[in-house]
Amino acid sequence: MSTAARPLVAEDGTLTGAVVVYSDVTGWVEALAAHQELISNVSHEFKTPLNSIIGNVDLVLDDVTGLPPQVERRLTVVQRNAERMLALVSDLTASASTALNVHPKRTDLASLVETSVGSAQAQAEQAHIKLTADVPSPLWAYADPIRIGQALDNLVSNAIKYSPDGGRVLISASAGSDWVQLSVSDTGMGMSNDDAGQVFRRFFRTDAAREAAIPGAGLGLSITKMIVERHGGSITCVSGQGQGSTFTLTLPADGPPPSF
Ligand code: ADP
Repeated sequence: MSTAARPLVAEDGTLTGAVVVYSDVTGWVEALAAHQELISNVSHEFKTPLNSIIGNVDLVLDDVTGLPPQVERRLTVVQRNAERMLALVSDLTASASTALNVHPKRTDLASLVETSVGSAQAQAEQAHIKLTADVPSPLWAYADPIRIGQALDNLVSNAIKYSPDGGRVLISASAGSDWVQLSVSDTGMGMSNDDAGQVFRRFFRTDAAREAAIPGAGLGLSITKMIVERHGGSITCVSGQGQGSTFTLTLPADGPPPSF
């Protein structure tokens, strides 16, 4: 049952009554649950064969010596695309889930940044992008290290993906008495103000990203936003067309006080 209420106020400001509307949302809740179950089942069915493809191709590439270069190249394409599909399926599952759990604890964000930079370094080098971090260590926040690591990976990987060769990506930080911020800035294609307001919507992609045929499904940022908001935090995007983008996530510095 969902309820909406409005007071009825006379011209002189006295309260004369109220209108209360009760709506039965059972059907909507059931449809949402069925939708989530369908996505989760389909994702599961996709994951098993995809893992099998990836595992077998990995084995051939790692263990079979003397493969003709052309075969090796083709197998590498199969491997990359299967991995991309697996990542998409995981994104789809996460974005359909209302039960995205976070387990925040006292966490050093500086070490998460270090890990994120380490794992994105190969992608950055390939795209000739200078990836640097300027974050004081330690930088404590009340965060789930796995989920915030995932959010950071998404932002860093996007910053590289949407920047042309020779660009720069910088991760920086600032902190107040009860909040901590991490920003990921790039010198890439950026987007209009209007797009920056929509970028956290599921499946949203800018025209520029589509036209440049940069692969993506428009799910990563909606998941990132969900993760950050589950921490009681927030995320913003400041960007300009052709002027790069800055994504900033704000997290609480401390958890609730211990109860005795
Ligand atoms: P994906 O990158 O897989 O399409 P995201 O949800 O991560 O999905 O991003 C949504 C869209 O926002 C992207 O398709 C792209 O148009 C835009 N975008 C995200 N990050 C950036 C960035 N750093 N610079 C420019 N555009 C970006």
